[in-house]
Amino acid sequence: MAKVLLITGASRGIGAETARLAAARGYSLCLNYLHSEQAANELLESLLAGGHEAILFQADVSDEAEVEAMYRAIDDEFGRLDGLVNNAGILEQHSDLVDMTAERWRRILDINVVGSFLCAREAIKRMSTRSGGKGGSIVNVSSRAADLGGPHEYVDYAAAKGAIDSMTIGLAKELGDQGIRVNGVKPGLIYTDIHAAGGEAGRVDRLKSGVPMQRGGYPAEVAEAILWLLSEASGYTTGGFIDVSGGR
Ligand code: NAP
Repeated sequence: MAKVLLITGASRGIGAETARLAAARGYSLCLNYLHSEQAANELLESLLAGGHEAILFQADVSDEAEVEAMYRAIDDEFGRLDGLVNNAGILEQHSDLVDMTAERWRRILDINVVGSFLCAREAIKRMSTRSGGKGGSIVNVSSRAADLGGPHEYVDYAAAKGAIDSMTIGLAKELGDQGIRVNGVKPGLIYTDIHAAGGEAGRVDRLKSGVPMQRGGYPAEVAEAILWLLSEASGYTTGGFIDVSGGR
């Protein structure tokens, strides 16, 4: 039977590319999205047309009831879960911290951190060998910003990704004897729409000369790292991180 994978924020960017690669590697998929209904439907249709098994589920990852309903839909549709990619994430307009509001910080932390915690909690309930599950793999999509700090752009987002890194380390230890591996990927400057949300669609091209490899990265390059961490090929790796950042 095919392994079942939940990818949050799968409608666009890194999440959508991870979905395409995971389908090609034989996973059955639950694709989560929030606002981009058309893009999510187009992705679903292309996967189904290719003979892959997938469902869509609209849920705000920071909403506990919606996340619980999404996992119940996975239970009903597939009856098992083997992996989670905590990919959904947001940033906001570039700004110094001194000009940010508490309301913004709450949104950033709610979606990037609480959302990942909620999705991890529900995945653990289903995958932990301690509660009768078959084990599994969680991959958290962090960011190189967690180490670089995001000055003058988004210290709040960088700090949220720092929290994801701590969660990855702690959960890996907590779940090491429950059959669940937990790892992170840290993308650098990747060509997706997220930079437009920060107010600078051309950010990757502006900054790429500061990347040792002298170029931005592509969602498919991040997806490859995620798929490796999900797979048995990384079976003795937990609490680890892969930088996908061209050396930056
Ligand atoms: P993106 O193109 O902006 O896509 C973000 C995805 O997250 C969309 O599918 C969006 O869904 C979803 N999302 C946002 N808020 C959500 C919520 N509350 N509930 C459910 N889904 C939600 O961004 P991306 O670049 O692919 O980013 C993916 C991940 O990589 C994020 O965690 C980001 O922080 C991380 N990352 C990206 C870069 C980069 O350079 N691109 C670098 C480092 C880390 P809808 O559109 O359907 O709302």
